[in-house]
Amino acid sequence: MDLYSGHINKLIDELSGLPGIGSKSAQRLAFHLINMPKDKVVRLAKVIVEAKENVRYCKECFTLTDNELCPVCANEKRDHSTIMVVENTRDLAAYEKTGKYEGIYHVLHGAISPMLGIGPGDIRLKELITRLEGNVSEVIIATNSSLEGETTAMYISKLIKPTGIKVTRIASGVPVGGDLEYIDEVTLLRALEGRVEI
Ligand code: ZN
Repeated sequence: MDLYSGHINKLIDELSGLPGIGSKSAQRLAFHLINMPKDKVVRLAKVIVEAKENVRYCKECFTLTDNELCPVCANEKRDHSTIMVVENTRDLAAYEKTGKYEGIYHVLHGAISPMLGIGPGDIRLKELITRLEGNVSEVIIATNSSLEGETTAMYISKLIKPTGIKVTRIASGVPVGGDLEYIDEVTLLRALEGRVEI
């Protein structure tokens, strides 16, 4: 027997498909949405659709942005010869929050994971190599210190080494397996300043 109406079940179903939302949270959110004033629900739905339709990849660093170039790549005052490689846009935001990094970024959108079947061709690695044809003096690899992050760092380092460009890895002050976005700014800065050539 269905406990709820078909529409509520459908809503719970969709919500529970989101990351970090279990069936209990999905039920709570569904009833919250139903009880919200209609104009608020319409606004929320519109914001979701608009974000989906208008957010795109920066043509330089591939972070998610509203324009052709993200604010970092568009900023001429940044050091465009230093590229920090991060796994996702959230990691980029974590480093931007420190306000101390002056270079630019490259967002991979993932990490190599043989276990999950994610290979080098599944992340934005080709695009990184293409960027190295420009004027690049250092590539800082700031992937997570998880197994996947380390595998990716090693892979990138091997790819770049023959070009003679300096490759560094952020210091391992970052907790193992820790998502960069959850690490405080002081730890991030220490990791960046303590980077070593690999
Ligand atoms: Zn960019």
